[in-house]
Amino acid sequence: MSLIVQKYGGTSVGTPERIVEVAGRILRTHQEGSQVVAVLSAMSGVTDNLIKLARQVAPHPAEREVDVLLATGEQTTIALTAMAINGLGGRAVSLTGRQAGIITDGVHTKAKISTITPKRIHTLLDAGHIVIVAGFQGETLEGVITTLGRGGSDLTAIALAASIKADLCQIFTDVDGVYTCDPRIVKSARKIPEISYDEMLEMASLGSKVMQSRSVEFAKKFGVIFEVRSSFNDQPGTIVKEETAGMEKVVIRGVSLDRRQAKVTISGVPDKPGIASRIFNEIAAINVNVDMIVQNVSAAGSTDVSFTTLADELPKIEKHLGPIASEIGAKGFAAQGGIAKLSVVGIGMRSHSGVAAKMFELLGKAGINIQMITTSEIKISVIIDEAQIDEGANIVHTGFGLGSLE
Ligand code: ADP
Ligand code: ASP
Ligand code: MG
Repeated sequence: MSLIVQKYGGTSVGTPERIVEVAGRILRTHQEGSQVVAVLSAMSGVTDNLIKLARQVAPHPAEREVDVLLATGEQTTIALTAMAINGLGGRAVSLTGRQAGIITDGVHTKAKISTITPKRIHTLLDAGHIVIVAGFQGETLEGVITTLGRGGSDLTAIALAASIKADLCQIFTDVDGVYTCDPRIVKSARKIPEISYDEMLEMASLGSKVMQSRSVEFAKKFGVIFEVRSSFNDQPGTIVKEETAGMEKVVIRGVSLDRRQAKVTISGVPDKPGIASRIFNEIAAINVNVDMIVQNVSAAGSTDVSFTTLADELPKIEKHLGPIASEIGAKGFAAQGGIAKLSVVGIGMRSHSGVAAKMFELLGKAGINIQMITTSEIKISVIIDEAQIDEGANIVHTGFGLGSLE
């Protein structure tokens, strides 16, 4: 008998009707002769609403309590889904993250799974039950509730699949699979039948939020092959797996975009050893995550250092960066939101040259100004004006011949 882990995201369980449909799908899989563990997200919009609610009672709510609150979203869905399955004549039992054996560290709102002891899951499966697990949550060894970061139900599903050695891990969502770009933005985007972990990881961390990037990292580490597919139809989706020989033939696998970025430039920074370390240590100390960093060539003993971060961090930067800049003897700083990151990803770039030149040419011809550039072996990212990001994504996608209409 095969053992299947299925994960259903927020839109897939967004209404009571959708929950009943998902319950039917889970039950059918069970009736076809498989043992089923289903991981569920909160109904769409619920997590966002809970976060808003928390801010209405306190401007900076304690993260411990935020986790207690957010974990209720998934608990609602697992109870409703188990009820729906039982109503359809099946036998389902819901489990919280902890009941499913998920233990995490204590880093609230972005906890890491430390161990999974799926004893209870196995006992229930062996007794013929369908097991419904709350995604996105766990507990510390001391019994404090934690959550796994936004989109964390993907991680719950992949980690459980690894732990119970599932034969199949299916991520059901509101699109038919992983596309060459977000199909809501690029209409000609195509479904990718197979993608390597490295490409999926880059795309996810560069803004293609169809999968949580940490969950892909986990899948790569433990060799969990998974499929991203639609909960609205029966079309085959996208298989995410280790790279195979043919994959390198495709130069660009996909285009990713990430909005709401901000650029900060510290000007007149003394060009001496140890200064970069001081700047970025101070920035880390105020808990701002930095993405791209660019340092200009020095002129007359001083230089400019720019970095990007999320636009949400701007208030913190404006408050703290002034003193940091004057402490290191810099002239000053300027912070600016309204920018976005556009990236092309593909393992084929390792063996093909000219990709960067082509991307820059495509953007240049369209009059889109590039403000910053970073590259790695399998990606090229540029920062452009946020107002031009959809146009940029479409131009680059078409220019590299990725679309169905090209
Ligand atoms: P779920 O609630 O099922 O976890 P998400 O909203 O997290 O679903 O992820 C699915 C969404 O990801 C899609 O609706 C789509 O707009 C977006 N998305 C972004 N990039 C891509 C991509 N390259 N391929 C498919 N979907 C993408
Ligand atoms: N409900 C959580 C979120 O919205 C986790 C998830 O859906 O995967 O981020
Ligand atoms: Mg998601």
